[in-house]
Amino acid sequence: MKREIVIIGGGASGLFLSSLIREALLLERNNEVGKKLSLTGGGKCNLTHEGDAREIVSHYYDKKRFVSPSIYTFGPGRIREYFSSLSLDTYTRSDGKVFPVSEKSCDVINALRKGDIALETRVLSITRNEDSFIITTNKGVVEADKLVIATGGSSFSQTGSDGSFFPILSLLGHKIVPIRPALCSLKVKEDMGRVEGITVEDACIKYKKIKREGSILFTRNGISGPEVMNISREVENDDQIEISLSYLPPSELFHLKGNMRAIKALHEETLLPLRLLEERLSWKDKKIGELSKKDSEEYRDKIYKWTPIVTTKGMLNSSTVTRGGVDTDEVDPFTFKSKLVPNLWIIGEALDVDGECGGYNLTFAFSSAYSAYLSLKKEK
Ligand SMILES: Cc1cc2nc3c(=O)[nH]c(=O)nc-3n(C[C@H](O)[C@H](O)[C@H](O)COP(=O)(O)OP(=O)(O)OC[C@H]3O[C@@H](n4cnc5c(N)ncnc54)[C@H](O)[C@@H]3O)c2cc1C
Repeated sequence: MKREIVIIGGGASGLFLSSLIREALLLERNNEVGKKLSLTGGGKCNLTHEGDAREIVSHYYDKKRFVSPSIYTFGPGRIREYFSSLSLDTYTRSDGKVFPVSEKSCDVINALRKGDIALETRVLSITRNEDSFIITTNKGVVEADKLVIATGGSSFSQTGSDGSFFPILSLLGHKIVPIRPALCSLKVKEDMGRVEGITVEDACIKYKKIKREGSILFTRNGISGPEVMNISREVENDDQIEISLSYLPPSELFHLKGNMRAIKALHEETLLPLRLLEERLSWKDKKIGELSKKDSEEYRDKIYKWTPIVTTKGMLNSSTVTRGGVDTDEVDPFTFKSKLVPNLWIIGEALDVDGECGGYNLTFAFSSAYSAYLSLKKEK
């Protein structure tokens, strides 16, 4: 079978592109498209974020320059307009995140499922002929004049993006920046079981030179929350992080008579949950009201600051996105065309681009797909 345009990968970016170029053939290994998309935003799909292009671009770490041309061309406003043209209306939540009005990710998938799609078709290898690609799949061979790779990253491998496509891209000549987890909770070596489920609204997380402020949630084996997730891409195994409150409680409170009275006063002063204070202050046998000055300072520091050691074991598969992928120096940021292989485009998370929590990763999946669409249209 010969086709002019073939897209590999029916996730957010490939599906979006296939809705724009309906004559293209989309190859997807799963028995359904958008498996990862269906999980986004807790099933509600946080598809983009409110803001002008300049503000949006600031959420892509060291890739601000690379993502700029596509996001300036096709940013949140145009993404929403496009979905609205597909009869999918969106709304902005008070924190700036944009969702479909129905709050159902399956509605986003249904709106985009427009093109020619071959399911359960896994691409096994790609070779280049003189002026076409020979794509070998589990269901036979497809020849294409133009090829778009939209095979995603390497997290949540059960969704189909398991990183197994990177060696194929490498054989085509592209450099793959090593894959690392990003946007995930952090596991710590300390036992957190007793504070599991507690949220502290006003915390500060520090890791090396990075400092982020926001809410944190204690989990069974670590910590989570948007700012924790935003720094997770940097963290190395066995490193220490620092969690501190933005408010240091006054030391007089530690001299109040009676353990529970002191803890209650601290709770009222700091708004820290009682359960957390009890847990943090029960590390010595002494009662708070009977502490020496030195001990009370130690206690004060203990609730003000934690310095747990993190472990990165198992982080990759629980990360919502991956850092790493095709080296962006080898791809044109205006067209998403490979600078190395003629008639090859690479879009979405297969590239070494990751954004922060808040709809930025889907924004990039859609805006990179749109830029590739404009480029493919121009070359017709
Ligand atoms: C739990 C979770 C929640 C998330 N929530 C959000 C959110 O709310 N907002 C946000 O912006 N981002 C979110 N993300 C991130 C976002 O989903 C991804 O960044 C986005 O899906 C990437 O799109 P993509 O098209 O590049 O890759 P994917 O969506 O991963 O799609 C890649 C597709 O390629 C297919 N494929 C791979 N190899 C082959 C092959 N050899 N042959 C054929 N097909 C192949 C895969 O099966 C898959 O369907 C979330 C991610 C997760 C895991």
